[in-house]
Amino acid sequence: MKGQKEALRRLPQVDRLLREPSLRQAAGRLGPAPLRALLRGALARLRRAIREEGIGGEELERRLEALPRNVAQEVEGRARSTLVPVLNATGVLVHTNLGRAPLSARALDRVREAAASYTNLEYDLEARRRGSRSSHLERTLGMLLPGAACHVVNNNAAAVALVIHALAAGREVVVSRGELIEIGGSFRIPEILEASGARLREVGTTNRTRLADYERAVGKQTALILKVHPSNYRVVGFTAEAGVRELAALARRRRIPLAVDQGSGLLVPLEEYGVKGEPTVEAYLRRGADLVTFSCDKLLGGPQAGMIAGKPSLIRRLSRDPLGRAFRVDKMTIAALDATLEPFLRGKAFEEIPILRQITRPAAELQQRAEALARAVREAPGARLDVVVEPSSARVGGGAAPTSVLPSWRVGLRPAPEARARSSGVARRGDASGTGGTSVTDLERALRLGQPRVIGILGRNRLWLDLRSVAPQDDARLLEALTRARRALGGCA
Ligand SMILES: *Cc1c(COP(=O)(O)O)cnc(C)c1O
Repeated sequence: MKGQKEALRRLPQVDRLLREPSLRQAAGRLGPAPLRALLRGALARLRRAIREEGIGGEELERRLEALPRNVAQEVEGRARSTLVPVLNATGVLVHTNLGRAPLSARALDRVREAAASYTNLEYDLEARRRGSRSSHLERTLGMLLPGAACHVVNNNAAAVALVIHALAAGREVVVSRGELIEIGGSFRIPEILEASGARLREVGTTNRTRLADYERAVGKQTALILKVHPSNYRVVGFTAEAGVRELAALARRRRIPLAVDQGSGLLVPLEEYGVKGEPTVEAYLRRGADLVTFSCDKLLGGPQAGMIAGKPSLIRRLSRDPLGRAFRVDKMTIAALDATLEPFLRGKAFEEIPILRQITRPAAELQQRAEALARAVREAPGARLDVVVEPSSARVGGGAAPTSVLPSWRVGLRPAPEARARSSGVARRGDASGTGGTSVTDLERALRLGQPRVIGILGRNRLWLDLRSVAPQDDARLLEALTRARRALGGCA
C-alpha cells in the first residue's frame, strides 16, 4: 500500500508535462485543450497500472520517461486525417470499402462550385418561389428515362425504405422468396420492410416463383409488389421467376404499384464489355415498372445517393413523406449527380465517367501497362522484388453483376529469395515502423500504409496489383509507391 502511494506521488502534473520540449512542439500541432486531454488519459492509464498491476520502481520510471514521447506520437497520429485517398489495385471496380465510384473531373468542378456559394437548391428562379431539390435532376434524368419523374435520397437502401414507407406502411408488400436478399453492410429486404412499417408477404420458393404465386397473394391488404434484382448472387439450375412485364400487367389489373429495386444504376448496356445479367433502369421502366430504385455510386459512376425514378404521381407521394425529408441529400450531391448524368445525354459517358472508362478499357491496354510497370519495378532501385505479369479477372463489385468477369491483367510481386534470406538473418520483428523484414505480407503492409496508399490482393504468396481498377494517370504514382515501399523495406540493392 505504501509503495503504491509513493508510486502515485511520482506521477507528474499535466502542466509540468506541457513544458517538456517534445510536447511544446506537439501543442502547436493539436492545440492545448486536446493535448491536455491526451495527457490526462495517459496519466490515468498509468495510475490504473499502479493500482491494478502494482507497477513501481524501475518499470514505473521507464514508463514515466517514455510518456511525453508516446503522447507526442499519439498527437502526430491525431493531427493527421484518417480518411485518405488510396490506389485501388484490387481489380474490384465498385469497392464499397474503398468508397465505390470515383467522380469525374466535371462532377468535381461542379461540387466545388456548389459548395462554395449559395445556390438555388430549393428556389425556383423563374417562378420566384420555393422549388424542389430533385427538380435539378429531372432535366437530365427525364430525358434519359422518358416520362419518368425522380426523387433523390442518401442511398439506395433509403430509396427502398422510402418507397415502402410512403406507399405501403401498415399494409402488405409482396416479395418473392428468391429475392429476400441481404446486401453487404446489413441491407436486408425483410428488415427494411419491417422498419418501414409494412408487412412482408412472401411468395413462391427460393428457386422458383411464378406469376400464379403473386396472383394468389395479392389481396385487399396488398399495397405494393416489390421485385428485387438479386444483385450479389445468382440462383442457378432449376429456377423460375416472374418477369417484370407480367408482374406489371398483374399490378395494373389489381390497381397496385410495382416497384423494382434495380440496384446498380446501370443506364447503358455493358454486355459487350462482360457485364452480364444487369438490365438497365430504362429497360425496367419500359417493361412496366412503376418505380425503379438504384444506387448512384455503382455503375452510374456518381456520388453516394439513391434514386427513385418512375410514375410522377407516385414520386409526388414520396416527396411528401416525412422520411423523404429525413433522407434528403445536400447540394454537393445534387451538383455531382447532375454533372454525372450530363455525359450520358451527350453520348460521352464512356469517355468521361471514370467507372465506365475502367470497365470498357481494352484488356490489351491493361497488359501493356502491367508489363511496363513490371519492367520499371525490375529496373528501379530498392529491395529486390520477384515480378510476374499474368491475365486476371476483374469484377464490377459493390454487389453488382456478381458472375460477370472483366478480362484484366495484373502484376504479382514478392520479395526476391536473396532479400528474404537477408532479412530472416536479422531479427527485425520489433521494428517500430512495422516495415522491417521482407516477407510478402511486409510488402503488402508497406504499400497499404505507404505514400500513396496502395491496396492490392494477397494470394499464392504474392501481392497482386490489378490494373483494371487503376486509372492510367495513376500508373506513375503506383510506381512511386512501390519505390518508396522498397526503400522502407530497407534492402537498397
Ligand atoms: C447496392 C444495392 C442496394 C443498396 O444500395 P446502397 O446505395 O448501398 O444503399 C440495394 N439493393 C440492390 C439491389 C443493390 O444492388
